This record gives sequence, C-alpha cells and structure tokens, in this order.
Amino acid sequence: MSVPMPGHEDDGDVEQSARQTGGAPPMSSGEGDTAPVDPGVDARLAQHWARVRGRLRSEIGESAFRSWLKPLTLVAHRDGVVRLGVPTRFMRDWISGNYADRLRALWKAESADVANVEIIVQPPKRNGEGARPHTAAPAPAAAPTEPATPDAAEPAESPAPAPTVPAAASGSGAEAGSAVSGSDSGLYEAGTGGFAELSAPLDARFTFENFVVGKPNELAYAAARRVAEAATVPFNPLFLYGGVGLGKTHLMHAIAWHIRRRAPHKKIIYLSAEKFMYQFVRALRTKNTMAFKEQFRTVDVLMIDDVQFIGGREATQEEFFHTFNTLVDQNRQVIISADKSPSDLEGVEDRMKSRLGWGLVADIHPTTYELRLSILQAKADEMGVAIPAKVMEFLAHKITANIRELEGALNRIVAHATLVGREVTLESTQEVLHDILRANDRRVSIDEIQKKVAQHYNVRVSDMSSARRSRAIARPRQVAMYLCKQLTSRSLPEIGRKFGGRDHTTVMHAVRKVDELRTKDGQFAEDLDMLRRTLEG
Ligand code: ADP
Ligand code: MG
Repeated sequence: MSVPMPGHEDDGDVEQSARQTGGAPPMSSGEGDTAPVDPGVDARLAQHWARVRGRLRSEIGESAFRSWLKPLTLVAHRDGVVRLGVPTRFMRDWISGNYADRLRALWKAESADVANVEIIVQPPKRNGEGARPHTAAPAPAAAPTEPATPDAAEPAESPAPAPTVPAAASGSGAEAGSAVSGSDSGLYEAGTGGFAELSAPLDARFTFENFVVGKPNELAYAAARRVAEAATVPFNPLFLYGGVGLGKTHLMHAIAWHIRRRAPHKKIIYLSAEKFMYQFVRALRTKNTMAFKEQFRTVDVLMIDDVQFIGGREATQEEFFHTFNTLVDQNRQVIISADKSPSDLEGVEDRMKSRLGWGLVADIHPTTYELRLSILQAKADEMGVAIPAKVMEFLAHKITANIRELEGALNRIVAHATLVGREVTLESTQEVLHDILRANDRRVSIDEIQKKVAQHYNVRVSDMSSARRSRAIARPRQVAMYLCKQLTSRSLPEIGRKFGGRDHTTVMHAVRKVDELRTKDGQFAEDLDMLRRTLEG
C-alpha cells in the first residue's frame, strides 16, 4: 500500500500532517471520479475536497465541470487558505473569475477553518491529464513533487481571486465585522449588532434538504419544520432530545437556515448550553450582565443546544431559566435540545424540568437499518461518488451506533479510495474500517438484549418493561438487565428506564441476583453464557 492514511480517527483533529517524502506517487486524476490531490494532503482534507468537487459538479453540470474544474488539484490548506492548482494561467483566470465564489462557499461549508480559496498555477506533473498545454511548460517528467518552493506547497504565484476574509474577529471591539464576502455571508450570524459574537456559526450542510427522514426521526423533523415554517409560534419550547449523533444539532441549524431565508429580519441566536454558560460567567466576571441580558431581549428565536450540560450549575441555570421564561412569555420561539427528556435531565431544578416540557417534546429514536441506508445513499450522492450497493448495505448493517459514525465511515472509505485511486469494494471497506467495525461488533443495544432474552425464555418483549412480577417474567427480565449491564455501557438508571422506568436499585438487585444464580446453578450459567455469545455475535 503506497499511500498511508495519516489520520486514523475520522474525527481526529487533523492538522496539516507531515508531508510525505519520497515514495508517494503524485495523485493526478487518472480517471473520472477521484478528486485530485497532491501528495501530502491528508485524508480528511482530501475528503473535504472530494465533497466540494462533487457538489460543484452537480451544480454546474458535467460538461462545464469537465472543461474547467476537473483538472483542479488540491495542493494544500494552510492558515485558513485552501490552495487549488491548475495547469495553466488561462484556466486560473477563468476559474478565479467564474467559480471562485462558489468554491469558497463550498469549502467553508465543508470546514469552518477555511477563510479563502486560492487558485494557483501548478504545471502538470507526470501525467497531469487535464493539462492541455495552453502555455506553461510542463515540469520535467520525473519531477519529485512540488514545483516551487522546496519546503512546502507554497505557490510561486498566487493570484488571490477575491478579498481575503479575516480569519476570526475576536476581542471585545470586534463586532459583526468579520463580514464574510458576498454570497456566503449567511454562514455566520453576521449583521445585527453583537449577535455575531454571541451566536455560534451554523453549519451549511445542516439543512432540511439534507436531512433524511425516517421512522425514528419523523416526529422531530415534522416539529422542526413546523417551527421553521409557522408564522406564529406553534409550540413553546420545542424540546428535541435523543442520543449522540442522531441529528439534533442538524435540525436546529436547519430551522435557523430556513427562518433566515424566509424572514431575514428575524434575530436568531443559536448557542450551545456550554457557550451560554461561558458567556454568562464571563459577563458576571466583567460585571456586564446587563449587556448579556440585553442581547437576548430582542431575539426572535433562541436555540440552546445540548442543554444537559447546564445541570448542576446554579447561577447559570437560574439565568437560563430567567431568559427562557422571559422569551416564552413574550411569545418568542425557544428551541432546546438535550440528550435526555426534560424529566430525565440531571441536576436541573424541578420547576425548570416541568417548564421545559410545556411545549412539544419530540424525541429522536436510534436509527433503523432503512434509515441508515437512506442516509448513506444521500451522503454518497452529495459527495458525488458511486458506492456499490453491497458496501452500503454492509455499512448500514454494521455501523449502528449513530449517524455521525456512519458518516465518518463513509468519508473514510471515500477518502481512501480517492487517495489510492481504486474503487470501493467490500474487501477494501472491511480493511479500511476494521477498527470501527470491531468496535461496533461489540456494541449491543438494550433493545436487542431484551428481544433475545424474551425469545429465549419465551416471554413477550413487552413484559420486559411491564409491571408483572411473576417469577416466569421477573427472572428473564433480571437476566436481560444483567446482560445490559455486562454488554452495554449504559448506566444503571438508563437501564432501569428501558425496563419500564424501573429504579436503578432494581437493576442493581437484578445484577446481584443473576450473579448469585450463576454460581449456584450450572444450567442457568450455561444458558446465560449462550445468550451472551449469541448477543455478542
Ligand atoms: P446530535 O446533535 O444529535 O449529536 P448531529 O445533528 O450533530 O447530532 O448529527 C451528526 C451527524 O449526522 C451530522 O453530520 C448530521 O448532518 C448527520 N445526520 C444526523 N441525522 C441525519 C439525517 N436524518 N439525515 C442526514 N444526516 C443526518
Ligand atoms: Mg449536537
């Protein structure tokens, strides 16, 4: 294997990784579907590039794409600037004049770190296929890698196609001034005094259009759409909850995008609960709480993400509650997300729990196979890549934890294929994802455990959470609880909840009981072992 993958974790922080020296072949686009990148470009970046390219391709159509953009090669990303190489000056000027804005917007949507895109002339390497030699003399055939400066992908010439956007406006004085140029100003909460500082950026990919709806998320989706489309506040607050990586943040951003498009004058604040706390504490420290509160006074839509983090912090909770009440009283839309339902939030005052549940509480359930498959298909289309159905089905079967992980897996196999310039196959997928797959193999859900155990003891699955207490039911239930403790990472209260809202002490008791039976009763121990093995699959 000639091209190593620098980032193994799909989610790891990928800095510009060490440039490869020696062996790596230049990745000129040998064929249609791989996005060309220079050697030394890391996997994550390559995969951003594959997506940017895919989108552009579908936007401008195949023939324009082939004529102009196909030869673009990703050279590097440094200090917020993405550099794309083209073989000739003429192409550079044309692309800068016609596609620079779009390229920049798409890159920014991919990665918030990107402030600008530069198109540079980079004479073709070995078999630079797109290079119909208009001008520039081709580099010597065996050119090592970079044409210009020895130390990095610093281009010899760099005609900034458009004004560079300041990387970040920080400090107190820096207002919404980071005015992102032209068409993509919508990416950040720009404009309206002070809001830019408070509100977090929105992810351009998190729109309703990009949200795949299935059974597990249809209620949350419908509720989100309703809030986004309604002329008057339909329910307040909208409380979205569900496990990690199931689309809560996506839906919130989608609401924000939608409202912004429909009613641009509306003030929207989107914040994580953590950031809310941070801002508030900072205001306290600088004795500036008035200004802090002021920022919320005129807001039309307030979204606080991951509100579970607010638990246990008295002062912030108080402030949050106050802000919340004021806004709801004034009939401003409030949208909250959390990983638990309002009543299950830990360390949150009862009055607040109950108030949070006053509007519409919509939960997002764990994904189903069908939803996972549709999401994979949608993502692959979006990236402009064709993945064999077998591979998609395999992924949808195997990677069940959440959508973020599923996306990560898809990105990784696409990046791999792009880098090594080979097609995605079932074998390559298994190879590239072996670590993720192994981790997922071991993960069993509470639902599966309940189902298997019920089957084994010939009781109804519903009895796992029913109130019935006869031995014939109670024992299997205890076994299931025990296996949940052993095979999942769920806490005792979480397990209890899945068994008809039982207390964690009940689960503890079950675990002890089963342990005891196991040592006393050989047949029972064998049964248990067998169940465990089938569950671990
Ligand atoms: P959460 O906030 O619930 O932890 P996110 O909203 O961040 O999860 O979603 C994780 C990732 O999965 C995001 O990249 C998001 O776009 C994607 N995702 C989640 N749900 C869907 C969906 N129904 N359709 C398409 N993508 C989704
Ligand atoms: Mg989130």
